[in-house]
Amino acid sequence: MYKINEDYLKLPGSYLFSTIGKKTAAYKEKHPDKDLVRMGIGDVTQPLAPAIIEALHKAVDEMGSPETFHGYAPDLGYEFLRNAIVKNDYQARGCDIAADEIFVSDGAKCDCGNIQEIFSKDNKIAVCDPVYPVYVDTNVMAGRTGTYDAVKETWSDVIYMPCTAENNFSPELPEKTPDIIYLCYPNNPTGGAITKDALQVWVDYANKVGAVIIYDAAYEAYISEENVPHSIYECEGARGCAIEIRSFSKNAGFTGVRLGFTVIPKDLEVNGTKLHALWARRHGTKYNGAPYIIQKAGEAVYSAEGKEQLKKQVAYYMNNAAYVREGLKDAGYEVYGGVNAPYIWMKTTNNMTSWEFFDYLLENANVIGTPGSGFGPSGEGYFRLTAFGTYENAVEALKRIRAL
Ligand SMILES: *Cc1c(COP(=O)(O)O)cnc(C)c1O
Repeated sequence: MYKINEDYLKLPGSYLFSTIGKKTAAYKEKHPDKDLVRMGIGDVTQPLAPAIIEALHKAVDEMGSPETFHGYAPDLGYEFLRNAIVKNDYQARGCDIAADEIFVSDGAKCDCGNIQEIFSKDNKIAVCDPVYPVYVDTNVMAGRTGTYDAVKETWSDVIYMPCTAENNFSPELPEKTPDIIYLCYPNNPTGGAITKDALQVWVDYANKVGAVIIYDAAYEAYISEENVPHSIYECEGARGCAIEIRSFSKNAGFTGVRLGFTVIPKDLEVNGTKLHALWARRHGTKYNGAPYIIQKAGEAVYSAEGKEQLKKQVAYYMNNAAYVREGLKDAGYEVYGGVNAPYIWMKTTNNMTSWEFFDYLLENANVIGTPGSGFGPSGEGYFRLTAFGTYENAVEALKRIRAL
């Protein structure tokens, strides 16, 4: 008789956003007349920029004639896209990354989840707490996290690095030595950023202890401050210890289009084996490439018009973030984030737990956010609001919260 992968059974509870969905639906059923403002799930709302739509149309037409039809894409992605990525995201920022170190994919979530496959099951992972749940859950599925403590909401074999207001949401170097360190900057969920000097400390540490950093830079486009690095490869020595994962979802609205990439420098090597070779093997065996049409749309993200249009889109969301952040502060709330990331991370009031605050806002303001505790135990007592809605929604949400 077949057996299942028992590690899947270790995953606790239901997924954060499905619980939010269920609670929201139950409220809606009881109060069908209420108009809810949704600032929970981190999905974009602005339509694709005209330059991208144009590229998509053109690529679709190409697929319709034999001379310009495209079948399977090259394993690592089309050169036109990898060259545009290298030129704009890396060389323009002084980062030494080559086109053949870029692996184009259908999004950052898959890459964040799959990358652990090329590492030994014995490796110890370190994550920020709170954290984007994909890093931990995919390691649970792989059997790398030990046993779950339902009271503490932690795994025995995971090193947690608390990020709270007390340390300004910047984790300290862990006491136990990890093999794999997941970092996400600008950060989801806390909305915090890391300075170049602070990131350099992590790069130096990883090189010293022989750890690899998996650097999720999905929110790079939202950086507004000068001393915040857009790529980990801005730090010296990062080619020897860091994998970087990027997405087109948040900078260009590709959440429903699907495109991302992972950078694995050829310097990343352990006992004579290059991680680049392992990921290339994995990519070639398990993945058949992002669609030509979508990669053409990705190329348009780097065109002059594309850049201009997307800068406005990002500015639109960040204007929402500033409005909510300043409005909440003004109303007396303790608020973080929203400067280099489209997330507002606020302290709950009256010592409410994150879920109590969720219910309180849902019932009294009809505003939906995300309980901080859903991202890890150190998120308890915090609450996340996204700036990905419309400006009108942000204004409405703030009006209702102010009236509480
Ligand atoms: C949204 C998000 C991603 C996933 O992006 P996709 O490319 O849409 O899969 C990855 N990491 C973080 C932290 C995110 O918030």
